[in-house]
Amino acid sequence: NDLISIHLADEAAMIRFGEDLALAVKPGDCLALSGDLGAGKSTIARALIRAIADDGDLEVPSPTFTLVQTYDLKIPVAHFDLYRISDPSELEELGLDEALSNGIALIEWPQMAEDDLPSDRIRLRIEHEGDGRRVTIAAPEPNAARIRRVIAI
Ligand code: ADP
Ligand code: MG
Repeated sequence: NDLISIHLADEAAMIRFGEDLALAVKPGDCLALSGDLGAGKSTIARALIRAIADDGDLEVPSPTFTLVQTYDLKIPVAHFDLYRISDPSELEELGLDEALSNGIALIEWPQMAEDDLPSDRIRLRIEHEGDGRRVTIAAPEPNAARIRRVIAI
């Protein structure tokens, strides 16, 4: 599980990071975004979705209450927020496997169903660092190499 770690000084840098990440992902990828409330999980998810949509103004509502929002883009995206699920089995009903069959899944609060996520998932941990954030990425090869190629470290 290779680690990539990067400091992102402000929201603009975080958005560029999400846009870069969009160049690395491919159908079947599961991205787990962990970090406290306000860490920047949704900021990265929104930037990535808008980049895949090639539409910087695309509405990307928080899936806090709906638990999942899907986007029918050139690569279909399913954006999950598992904070409110009561049992990991709900993931299946929410359509995780279906999402991964032809597109990518972005998952906020993955720790609510860690054992039910694909073992080759790309894990992003976001922490406060000074006024900015540190994002640490762990992914098995070849996924890590794919990401390293687009992220300037
Ligand atoms: P989460 O989904 O993890 O709860 P959000 O993305 O909704 O977090 O909110 C993150 C907050 O932190 C936003 O106010 C955003 O402007 C800010 N932010 C995002 N990335 C950074 C960064 N790299 N440095 C400083 N502030 C950031
Ligand atoms: Mg969020």
